[in-house]
Amino acid sequence: MDLFEYQARDLFAKHDVPVLAGEVIETSEAAREVTERLGGRAVVKAQVKTGGRGKAGGVKLASDPADAVEKAGQILGMDIKGHTVHKVMLAQTADIQEEYYVSFLLDRTNRTFLAMASVEGGVEIEEVAATKPEALAKIPVDAIEGVTEAKAREIAEAAKFPAELVDQISNVLIKLWDVFVKEDALLVEVNPLVKTAEGKVIALDGKVSLDANADFRQPEHEALEDKAAANPLEAAAKAKNLNYVKLDGQVGIIGNGAGLVMSTLDVVAYAGEAHSNVKPANFLDIGGGASAEVMANGLEIILGDPDVKSVFVNVFGGITACDAVANGIVQALELLKSKGEDVSKPLVVRLDGNNAELGRKILTDAAHPLVQQVDTMDGAADKAAELAAK
Ligand code: GDP
Ligand code: MN
Repeated sequence: MDLFEYQARDLFAKHDVPVLAGEVIETSEAAREVTERLGGRAVVKAQVKTGGRGKAGGVKLASDPADAVEKAGQILGMDIKGHTVHKVMLAQTADIQEEYYVSFLLDRTNRTFLAMASVEGGVEIEEVAATKPEALAKIPVDAIEGVTEAKAREIAEAAKFPAELVDQISNVLIKLWDVFVKEDALLVEVNPLVKTAEGKVIALDGKVSLDANADFRQPEHEALEDKAAANPLEAAAKAKNLNYVKLDGQVGIIGNGAGLVMSTLDVVAYAGEAHSNVKPANFLDIGGGASAEVMANGLEIILGDPDVKSVFVNVFGGITACDAVANGIVQALELLKSKGEDVSKPLVVRLDGNNAELGRKILTDAAHPLVQQVDTMDGAADKAAELAAK
């Protein structure tokens, strides 16, 4: 989950990374009071989850409270790379002398964590990496040892920060590593990290991406979710603890096991080429021991997606045998009907693996008018695509 800058700023403050005071607002008029509180001047910054706001006109200096109202009015509603600005952050202004770059991230390729730092901050770091790679220091960070005082100095020195700033920058790096570890982040980036005219080092812009896999031990992170931006089907699926991702096709997909569901998406996309190019409408893995209730929850989400024209239930019986899954499907359809849900889309079911014969018999005997069975994955995908294209 990517955070807004103001949320990153709050996390930085929580872990003692030096930041400037700031407040987030949603109406331009609110800028007056906030700017007064900040000392009469403010920098007005668009809150969108994309970079390059400065270049796009989403960062403006306001010289007094009335000016802040005007600048906030200009920025609110602005479109930055397809993101509409609904919030702006007002922050204390900094007298910037130098702009630097620092970050910590998960380096999947090298199976380690990585610190990156550069004295060439402020601009897009991808550009520095492409045009002046020697100006971007990359230092691996051991997960167990973390960022010690010595490690922080190694990073600061590799990036060639001015000697008189190494103490301050090392301190910032240690605190940022705290943010990274204690908040279970995948990315913590500061661009720019500035040196002010008074010689102080401050994090002026922050980008943080949190690892959703750690949500179970980070109860405070739920409040950071941008509920307004979330896809309503994904939000509903999340509330039911389903592993669901909305896609933009027409064939609803339910399977057990992430690998099987991924390959089902490929097979359906391929089959769809022969049927008006229909595509998978979602990813949904109901997992190993799926009960009738989980099957019903999954079907409810998928049938509630107006884009879905047909549903492909692709199950390989393992620990949960196919007869249990078949009973789950039958009960799920009854459950949905009794709840008054509109169950009117055709379902193609492919059962294979443990107790497949028995599972198929259960579905055949139930003779639900919307359910048809196809024994192979390719055949079922083709049938589901054909029905979706009708
Ligand atoms: P980004 O363009 O989305 O990365 O937004 P930033 O928050 O990094 O702001 C872009 C640029 O605006 C910075 O690199 C600074 O040059 C400038 N800026 C941001 N805050 C201030 C401030 O308080 N004072 C001054 N003078 N410039 C600022
Ligand atoms: Mn920036």
